[in-house]
Amino acid sequence: MDDRTAIVTGAASGIGRATAVQLAERGATVVATDIDADGVRETADELADAGAETASYELNVADGDRFDEVVDDVTEQFGGVDVLVNNAGVLRLSRFEETAEADFDLQLEVNLKGVWNGCQAVVPEMMRSGGGSIVNTASVDGITGSPFHAPYGAAKAAVINLTRTLAVELGGDGIRVNAVCPGFVATPPVEHHIESQDDPEEKRAAMASENALGRLSDPAEIAECIVFLASERASFVTGEDFVVDAGYRHAHETHFRP
Ligand code: NAD
Repeated sequence: MDDRTAIVTGAASGIGRATAVQLAERGATVVATDIDADGVRETADELADAGAETASYELNVADGDRFDEVVDDVTEQFGGVDVLVNNAGVLRLSRFEETAEADFDLQLEVNLKGVWNGCQAVVPEMMRSGGGSIVNTASVDGITGSPFHAPYGAAKAAVINLTRTLAVELGGDGIRVNAVCPGFVATPPVEHHIESQDDPEEKRAAMASENALGRLSDPAEIAECIVFLASERASFVTGEDFVVDAGYRHAHETHFRP
C-alpha cells in the first residue's frame, strides 16, 4: 500500500486501531480519526514510532461538515485520499419496547449517517484522482435478526445496502465499495460487556459457543479482511459484504442427530 493515503474512522480503539496498524505495516500513510482525541493521538503516535507516515484528527463522523474539513486538509497535506475505512460505530443493547429515542438517534447518526458523511466527503476527491477504495465496517447484525440490536441492526443493514448501491453507482469512476461484517470481536466494548456480568467466564464461553470456532475474534483478524478489501489485491471486488464471523450466522444446535 506504498504511496496510498488511508483515512480510518474510529481508529482510537478495537478494529479501527488494528486496521490503522496493519495499513501502516503495509506502507500506507494512515490518517487516524476518532471522536476520542486522546485515543486517536495515541494510535498515531504508535504508528509514527514504528516509522509510518501518519496524522490524527478529532472527528465525530456524525458531523458532515467536519468530515469535509478533514478530507480537504488531508488532500492538501498528502495529495489525496485513496482509501476510506468507515469503521466508527456505537452499540446500545436494549429491548425494542424499552429503546429510548436518543439511543435510536445515536446509533443511526453514527453507524449509518457517519458512513454516509464519509462517502460524501471522499467521493468527489476520489473521482478527481481517478479512483479509490471504501470499506465500511457493518456487522452480522445487519444480516441476521439480532434480538436487542434493533437500531444497530437496522443501521448496519442500511450500510450493507448503501455499500452495494455506491459500488454500482461509482464503479465507473474507479471507486470500489465493500463492507466487512464481523461477528463477536474481543474489542473494549465487548470485553466491558463480558466483564460486567455476574460470571464473566461463563458469559465469554456462552458467546464463544455461538460460532463454529468456539472463540471470539481478535480485532486483527477483522483488520486483515478490511486491509485486503482496501488494497489493490481486491481490485475485482466491489459491492460485497464480507462476513468474518467464524460461522456465527450458520451455527445452530441441531436436535436431528444420529
Ligand atoms: P471500539 O469501541 O473499540 O471502537 C470504536 C471506535 O469508534 C472508538 O474508538 C470510538 O471512540 C469511536 N467512535 C464512537 N463514536 C464515534 C463518532 N461519533 N465519531 C467518531 N468516532 C466514534 O469498538 P469496535 O468493536 O472496534 O467497533 C468498530 C466497528 O466494528 C463498529 O462499527 C462496530 O459496530 C463494528 N462491529 C464490532 C463488533 C464487535 O464484536 N466488536 C462486531 C460487529 C461489528
